[in-house]
Amino acid sequence: MSNFIELKKIDQADEPVTVEAVLDLNPADLEHDDIESVSDAKIVVIGSKGAGAGEYLLQGRFEFKAAISCARCLEPVPFANASEFAVTFRPHPSAVAADDPEVEIEEGDLDVEYYSEPQVALERLAGEQIELALPMRIVCAESCQGLCPRCGANRNREECGCEPEPVDDRLQALSALRDKLKNEEK
Ligand SMILES: [Zn+2]
Ligand SMILES: [Zn+2]
Repeated sequence: MSNFIELKKIDQADEPVTVEAVLDLNPADLEHDDIESVSDAKIVVIGSKGAGAGEYLLQGRFEFKAAISCARCLEPVPFANASEFAVTFRPHPSAVAADDPEVEIEEGDLDVEYYSEPQVALERLAGEQIELALPMRIVCAESCQGLCPRCGANRNREECGCEPEPVDDRLQALSALRDKLKNEEK
């Protein structure tokens, strides 16, 4: 079940509308494949009217904890972050003036988003903050040895005794070719 901030309520109120929620976020709904779990996801959103027609400003704070797989050994690494955001929501052009070719979505304006329904899911705002917070890859330690490519053993915990990976045949063929060309140049 999603939690929403109702944009109509912002119109009806004389002062900004505050919505607070603890979100139950499913890692499968997030864009990152290496998120194992998300916990303590708390969001506060303060909604107020924006300057333009149908425009709303949603400001707030989001914090969460997560377990992220180590990019090398896949063990869960704890991660926590808190961030503040301010996003302007405008009516989606297709909802306002479908036939008006003059209306265009401005690309690249990160702090402007569009709504089609008069409500914004808090999970959407939270998901964006998680995306911004997570680095491209996380390792449990700089010294992490990763998994053995042959037997899959976690090399931080055990010596599996496998031979190191042989050089890829195709790479060998390439370097042979390179040597051959070099010799021909002489
Ligand atoms: Zn690791
Ligand atoms: Zn091994």
